Amino acid sequence: MNILVTGGAGYVGSVCAQVFIEQGHSVTVIDNFSTGNREAVPADATLVEGDVREVAATVLREHNIDAVAHFAARSLVGESVEKPEEYWQHNLVTTLALLDAMRDNGVNNLVFSSTAATYGEPETVPITEDMPTAPTNPYGATKLSIDYAITSYCHAYGMGATSLRYFNVAGAYGSIGENRAVETHLIPLVLQVALGHREKIMIFGDDWPTEDGTCVRDYIHIRDLADAHLLALESNTASQHRIFNLGSGEGYSVAQVIDTCREVTGHPIPAEVAPRRAGDPATLIASSAKAMNQLGWRPSRTDLHTIVSDAWAFTSQLGDRAYSAQR
Ligand code: UDP
Repeated sequence: MNILVTGGAGYVGSVCAQVFIEQGHSVTVIDNFSTGNREAVPADATLVEGDVREVAATVLREHNIDAVAHFAARSLVGESVEKPEEYWQHNLVTTLALLDAMRDNGVNNLVFSSTAATYGEPETVPITEDMPTAPTNPYGATKLSIDYAITSYCHAYGMGATSLRYFNVAGAYGSIGENRAVETHLIPLVLQVALGHREKIMIFGDDWPTEDGTCVRDYIHIRDLADAHLLALESNTASQHRIFNLGSGEGYSVAQVIDTCREVTGHPIPAEVAPRRAGDPATLIASSAKAMNQLGWRPSRTDLHTIVSDAWAFTSQLGDRAYSAQR
């Protein structure tokens, strides 16, 4: 397939682009480098620098695109609360333009990068796709509204689409891992302590209703995630919009993550308990049964030690290229 990857300079988009190429597909990346890293774009991809809204139609036409993997988005929960307009513009409005460009150019195959944040605070775990969606922040709301838009385009225009709702993506693949100018995620922050770029890690609350009092999350390896995108593009069916959760199906607490990082890095990683972070649910664990049954997805790197080891292999070789070293 000729696959257009929007946001192919971002963490998830660039790993997916790399895996698509390794599996024999041709990839064109659109990215405006607002948050992505230029060096993350796979060398064998064709790069079109620009805004999805402005260049998508031309790229679809001129690059003979068969399928689209749409990652370009803003994805920081806290920022979405402070600047919602940026999230509605860059997430919803951009996606509507992309959907129109796909419709106008007869490109009917889409996989969309969605999130567990569409569910909000779950009543029970593991979370299945039929549970209520009640996002607690604008980021999740934009992703959920995009899902509604995709469903209606599938029905009206015969598009075949899949939304993948990721839980906590982590780990690294080859030369691509997490290296952001603004980092808010637990594993990369803990590894910055091990690198000596940060003094300690703050634990956001130890009085949650969980076994050790810290929040529990479901960490999924970035490479396993990439497999699901390809399976989705290979099996999308006209007029159908499928939605799948993607996680490892196992919960690890913040304290367990920090301990695993200590084991992997050999660094003592000082930690300090801080107040709870606004909007954090106590426990988020995915049921990925539907993706396994219907997509045939088989995650193989579900062990936290493997996920952290791969993340550390990437982070520890960054040297001066680490954003956290440049502060
Ligand atoms: N967390 C923490 N300290 C940090 C960053 C995150 O205790 O410096 C916690 C956060 O409260 C959440 C978990 O780690 O319970 C995972 O947070 P992350 O931001 O990585 O992902 P999220 O679950 O918010 O998507």
